[in-house]
Amino acid sequence: MIGRTLILKLADSPRVQRFVRNNRASTSIVRRFVAGDTIEEAMPALLALNQRGMTIALDYLGENVTRKEEAAEFVAYYRRLLGIMDASRLDGYVSLKLTQLGMDISEELVYANMVSILEEAARYQRFIRIDMEGSAYTARTLDIFCRLRSNFSNVGIVIQAYLHRSARDVEILIESGAPVRLVKGAYKEPKEIAFQRKRDVDRNFIALMQMLLTRGNDPAIATHDEAIIRAARQFAREKEIDPSKFEFQMLYGIRRDLQDRLAHEGYRMRVYTPFGTQWYGYLMRRLAERPANLWFVMKNLLRR
Ligand SMILES: Cc1cc2nc3c(=O)[nH]c(=O)nc-3n(C[C@H](O)[C@H](O)[C@H](O)COP(=O)(O)OP(=O)(O)OC[C@H]3O[C@@H](n4cnc5c(N)ncnc54)[C@H](O)[C@@H]3O)c2cc1C
Repeated sequence: MIGRTLILKLADSPRVQRFVRNNRASTSIVRRFVAGDTIEEAMPALLALNQRGMTIALDYLGENVTRKEEAAEFVAYYRRLLGIMDASRLDGYVSLKLTQLGMDISEELVYANMVSILEEAARYQRFIRIDMEGSAYTARTLDIFCRLRSNFSNVGIVIQAYLHRSARDVEILIESGAPVRLVKGAYKEPKEIAFQRKRDVDRNFIALMQMLLTRGNDPAIATHDEAIIRAARQFAREKEIDPSKFEFQMLYGIRRDLQDRLAHEGYRMRVYTPFGTQWYGYLMRRLAERPANLWFVMKNLLRR
């Protein structure tokens, strides 16, 4: 059985990267998880999700930018995207990564880039969620978020349940009224800082989820794990927390049946939907989460 850690390690290899990127069959695999190369191509799928009663967290793919000019292009694109979302009356917000806006270059640059995006988002009354990346970025991402949050109310953050530090971070974020999306965590992290076993991650997820559901500001429970979703529903019922006070989130193309069911039952359901051509890192994290996906990939890659 090929494990998550091994897949994430292989994904870093330039040879694997070249092979996957250049293989024509990759396109059909990517289409399962990515709504289109451009916003125009993705829009019908996004509007269809809205029609099925779900909102969107829209992700323009790209990460670990190393040039200032490239970060500036992403900023300009996000500002344009907010206008397109408005014109299309899309019910959703933007989710983005700080390494896409220059985190590997300078924190001041990222801060200024985020201010530019948040100002434009405020004009359209849209919210921006900052995704959480690998642990090399956790502290800096939280610092920048807190600075932004003191000037903007339309910004939220993500916390990863696999990190030991997260209970403390959640407590601080609850105190400050920050909107948090809770996820398990998608990166390869060492045992010194992160739980390694699924049952430990799940136990921490549930503890943090309960803190957020009782005291958080509009928390998002982002998981496809049915046992955890059941636990969230039961906890909310027992504590008489109205379903309008939180939302579930899942990824585009994963557990569509469950997405539909929750929306149908009246829960708020948001689908994190990526688009763009820089899909490599995103795709590899999705494959690593569920090694069974590899069969689907191998079948497609080897078919032609
Ligand atoms: C809306 C959203 C936003 C996210 N944002 C971030 C972020 O900012 N930072 C971050 O580190 N991580 C993020 N993640 C990813 C997250 O950390 C997990 O890696 C991912 O959600 C898989 O964990 P799980 O909670 O679904 O539970 P798991 O225990 O991994 O999976 C439970 C079940 O869900 C299904 N499933 C899960 N993943 C897949 C898959 N890839 N393909 C097919 N079926 C699958 C399977 O049926 C599996 O048995 C996000 C996830 C979601 C849903």
